[in-house]
Amino acid sequence: MADKIRVTVWHEYRHERNTEGEAYKCYPNGIHAVIKDFLDKNDDMDVRIVCLDDPDQGLPDELLNNTDVLLWWGHGFHGEVNDELVDKIVTRVYRQGMGFIGLHSAHHSKPFRKLLGCTGNLEWGDNIKEVIWNLNPTHPIAAGIPKAFELEADELYSEPFYIPKPDDLIFGAWFEHGNIFRAGCTWARGLGKIFYFQPGHETCLSFYNPYVQKIITNAVRWAKPVEEPIDETCPYSGKGFLVSETVRFD
Ligand code: ZN
Repeated sequence: MADKIRVTVWHEYRHERNTEGEAYKCYPNGIHAVIKDFLDKNDDMDVRIVCLDDPDQGLPDELLNNTDVLLWWGHGFHGEVNDELVDKIVTRVYRQGMGFIGLHSAHHSKPFRKLLGCTGNLEWGDNIKEVIWNLNPTHPIAAGIPKAFELEADELYSEPFYIPKPDDLIFGAWFEHGNIFRAGCTWARGLGKIFYFQPGHETCLSFYNPYVQKIITNAVRWAKPVEEPIDETCPYSGKGFLVSETVRFD
């Protein structure tokens, strides 16, 4: 792996380009620019931003194959993402250990659904006050995060959230209507690590919140590939000792 964590922030970047819209007022240069700004403060990260409308939908092989952690924000145009690209992302996570961080509406993105084999369906509603609870303070993604913190408004996401059981549930969300949600979850898949984090609707200001920024920063460090990924060759192959020959189930 390179000296720095090679981070690529993939963004759909359609909403904020409407200069008449609410999303533009919140993120005039795009959500990806704000994420890059706060990640760039870390000397151990090399951050690139790409968009759906870029050539190769932002992820030519050269860039994808040199990405240690991929962050993904998409909302209204998931269906436009090429299935071939999704397969390459999934392969890179499973086989080369690239980290994948799904942000907010990425719960319905093709890579998230394919990585986890789920619909990612959930219930949603208006932008309202949210409290994020730290459920797992010993986890590295929760480092420096208080017991709870408040977001003035974000989009209501509610259980039931159709995901596989997380390896670690790190944050829980409470919304003032009474809904709750698994807001920060991790999974290992193949050699890769996956984190999903709920805040970040395009007409809310959550990406400016220092705790949200800290969580995403922590998640990038947590999700980077291990230094020397195991190779998939069984060390006993060709040496006359094969597990399949010694373990019988019939
Ligand atoms: Zn949203």
